[in-house]
Amino acid sequence: MKCEVCGAHFSVELTFADWFDPPRWCPDCERTYLPVYVHEAFPYQGGLADYVAVFPNPNPDPYRENALYRWMEKCFKLAVYKQNAFGLILWIGDKEFATADQWLFLLFDHPRCLLLSLFYYDFSVWEDCV
Ligand SMILES: [Zn+2]
Repeated sequence: MKCEVCGAHFSVELTFADWFDPPRWCPDCERTYLPVYVHEAFPYQGGLADYVAVFPNPNPDPYRENALYRWMEKCFKLAVYKQNAFGLILWIGDKEFATADQWLFLLFDHPRCLLLSLFYYDFSVWEDCV
């Protein structure tokens, strides 16, 4: 099999249990890319934002990002099940973080906001905007 993440070839013994859903990641990537789910909360003018990132580090390789989205399931479930608790739920990627100074003021209209991302972004750099 060819690993979806790193492209390395690896062997796997298929059984009836995984015959139609074989492992798509090599054992090294399974160990390297275990989700950690970082949770932070930061106050802003008139409210509190909960921020959840799947991985605690910045994105090491944009080409591997698509394969890692499989770990977003918990974040999407959080967004669906807690949608009534938050006035605004935002998905944060590289472009959104880079332009945060242009949209962070939108949080001010909502007392509770949920921000989700695959990789961690340090929002303390935008402290002056909130
Ligand atoms: Zn791999």
